[in-house]
Amino acid sequence: MNRLILTVVILMWSTLSVAAINVVATTSSMGMLTRTVGGEFVKVTELALPDRDIHTLQVRPSMLQALRQAQLVVAIGAELEQGWLPPAIEGSANAKILPNSLGYFEAAAQVPLIDAQGSANRSDGDVHPLGNPHVQLDPVRMAEIAYALAERLAKLDVTHSANFRANAASFKSAVNSQLAHWQQLAANNKGVMLYHKDAKYLLARFNIPLLATVEPLAGIPPTASHILSLVRQFKGKKGVILHTVYQGNAGIAQLASQLGWQHIALPLEPANNSHQQAYFALIEQWLTAAANNK
Ligand SMILES: [Zn+2]
Repeated sequence: MNRLILTVVILMWSTLSVAAINVVATTSSMGMLTRTVGGEFVKVTELALPDRDIHTLQVRPSMLQALRQAQLVVAIGAELEQGWLPPAIEGSANAKILPNSLGYFEAAAQVPLIDAQGSANRSDGDVHPLGNPHVQLDPVRMAEIAYALAERLAKLDVTHSANFRANAASFKSAVNSQLAHWQQLAANNKGVMLYHKDAKYLLARFNIPLLATVEPLAGIPPTASHILSLVRQFKGKKGVILHTVYQGNAGIAQLASQLGWQHIALPLEPANNSHQQAYFALIEQWLTAAANNK
């Protein structure tokens, strides 16, 4: 009899735990942040693996399935996922997660953006006319986003609003406790060349000069003449080229060899289904790679 009661209690408990907010994050950094802020009260599905190019993700049936059941979508935003997320949301036929609704959250909309007032526009071929969307490598902006995300989760689950706010505060203090160490890793850096402006927030946060981008314009692959002009401009100077795995084209290797610089491929995102620790490790990995230019 006692065993029966115990079984019933366990069943009720597991039913209650299913009441966690069902969140779909576009990337693993957004998944990490949601998990950090939401704790046990969220269930997070990530759409993109960390090594994928989030500008041009392919919509799969499994994504539509996840979106159909979602109560909240957490995207990086500023049109980064423009090519595939709006059609995927539409395909999911889930009105709760439409843009501008309670179930749709963009990280980039919560913080000031770099290049937001620029002259870039899509007709020139620039893929980021609203400003640079790649906010996830700035831990300080991520802490600000964590607070905004806590408020959004609190609207969806008011009972646990104090938990969400406390979790955001503890993420912020964890970031703050790392800042001196990160600044030390970044000190006296001679500068970094990026393939795309996807790590620009990290460089700006830690005062590392961005020497140039290998792309002449965001989203436009380099021509031979652009590579040549970069060689002329930076020959004899110190630097390092940082890029992602999916940007590994011949132009980068050629440029690095002509300048005598290292070129290093890094992920823009922490491991999938990870937590704060993996995110901090990613920041460390970038700052360590950026120091290979002295
Ligand atoms: Zn981009």
